Amino acid sequence: GGREGGRRFKGRNILERLEAGEVIIGDGGFVAGPWTPEAAAEHPEAGADIVGVNCHFDPETCVKTVKLMKEGVEKAGLKAHYMSQPLALHTPDCNRQGFIDLPEFPFALEPRVLTRWDVHRYARDAYNAGIRYIGGCCGYEPYHIRAVAEELAPERGFLPPASEKHGSWGAGLEMHTKPWVRARARREYWETLKPASGRPFCAAMSKPDCWGISRGHADLMQTKEATSEPQLKAVFDKAAQSQ
Ligand SMILES: [Zn+2]
Repeated sequence: GGREGGRRFKGRNILERLEAGEVIIGDGGFVAGPWTPEAAAEHPEAGADIVGVNCHFDPETCVKTVKLMKEGVEKAGLKAHYMSQPLALHTPDCNRQGFIDLPEFPFALEPRVLTRWDVHRYARDAYNAGIRYIGGCCGYEPYHIRAVAEELAPERGFLPPASEKHGSWGAGLEMHTKPWVRARARREYWETLKPASGRPFCAAMSKPDCWGISRGHADLMQTKEATSEPQLKAVFDKAAQSQ
């Protein structure tokens, strides 16, 4: 997109870089350092026909981030398409590095999973923000992506094929034997629902790890050999200290 503006971005485009996991951007900044909306146009990591973010953060953070990137791109007099592929997880407690730092990463993240109704809201928010490549990354199941397509059916002019399997907004519940469940066969019910977690001893937010290291730090170097016992012990000790 930068080309119309008479400028060329250096290096590989952002999709290639995202594929490589080299760029991590939340609303807090690049892992490698702070960023401003202008960075979306100026930073050597950025630029291309499509500008956006992928993974590491929840839909709210990603949409907010792309809005900032769009501001930066437009302020620079450039044009681009915008994309977002957030997690299918609620991560309001993330710090700069995203869900990697959450204590539940990677094997106990399920309590944070988005409902299909959360995805409806995400798709609408993303669309309203000017994002037209609206997808998902870690945690997305087929019914989540169907929810994106269903929310945007008025804009697209058709429903996805998978909508044949169910009625929109719980319409199939009209057939339910229990009348109080039949009463849920409507959009307003699901749209305004505040789902409970069912976990009375759990806090709503976790305390993320924050080791303060990022790409390039010696602790992040990968080696061919398996981590040794003493190396593991050092990591365990450091983790114990930071808790
Ligand atoms: Zn992902």
